[in-house]
Amino acid sequence: MGYEYDDQNIFARILRGEIPNDTRLETEHTLAFNDINPQAPVHVLIIPKGPYVCYDHFASLASEAEIVDFTRSVADVCRMTGVAPGSGGEGYRAIANTAVHGVQEVPHYHLHILGGRNMGPMLSRRD
Ligand code: AMP
Repeated sequence: MGYEYDDQNIFARILRGEIPNDTRLETEHTLAFNDINPQAPVHVLIIPKGPYVCYDHFASLASEAEIVDFTRSVADVCRMTGVAPGSGGEGYRAIANTAVHGVQEVPHYHLHILGGRNMGPMLSRRD
């Protein structure tokens, strides 16, 4: 039980500088970069630099400094990509896919920010 972090996952390798990324924002505890396979005109991934597997792992164990830094970075990304309603944007969808039922591919917590078009229904079944 518990969470085991695989430090060979692709976002860990991005954080170590082993593979490139298209950075949108970097702070002490957080990195945001464009998704390599964008599903919308705006598709940014926001990740903590710490070794957290998923959202609830981060929410449980991250320091207050990490949580504040991450949360403010979300606001900055939404503003800088033009999707934040408070800055005249039309809105966005924030998604944190988690583990098996959440169909998470990369086991390092990341928040997807998707926007720039109407994102349609929240869920569609594929089975
Ligand atoms: P998830 O299914 O929530 O784990 O999503 C993982 C996301 O990471 C997908 O949207 C991928 O397109 C994206 N991704 C995978 N490798 C990279 C990479 N090297 N740079 C940027 N995004 C990536």
